[in-house]
Amino acid sequence: MGRLRRSRAHHARRDVHRAARTRARARDIDQIQLEDLDPERRAELEAQPLDHELPGLGQHYCVECAKYYETDDALKSHWRSKVHKRRCKQLKEKPYTIEEAELAGGLGREQRKPRQKNNYDLNNDFRDV
Ligand SMILES: [Zn+2]
Repeated sequence: MGRLRRSRAHHARRDVHRAARTRARARDIDQIQLEDLDPERRAELEAQPLDHELPGLGQHYCVECAKYYETDDALKSHWRSKVHKRRCKQLKEKPYTIEEAELAGGLGREQRKPRQKNNYDLNNDFRDV
């Protein structure tokens, strides 16, 4: 058999996984849901000061996708794109909560009394554990 692995597949990067980890990270979907979509924060993000480090000086930002665009036209065509629409749909779903994660990990409280409506009532929860 011939050679199976392509040579020079990852541009002289020895550890491609590390490169992927440390690449400039976009905001996570729950960060956008919980912070950026808040109307005040949204207005703040859409009217950012000029920044020479960012594409298009940071003037054309899509809040849903946490992405900067070079021009207004690019941003507008992005809004019409499939990527953006898919993202909007994703953002309408409920964020994944810590409680769900605990249930999945077997730390849940299924057998206990049903939770009160108030999720912020954490102090009382800790006392009866
Ligand atoms: Zn977008």
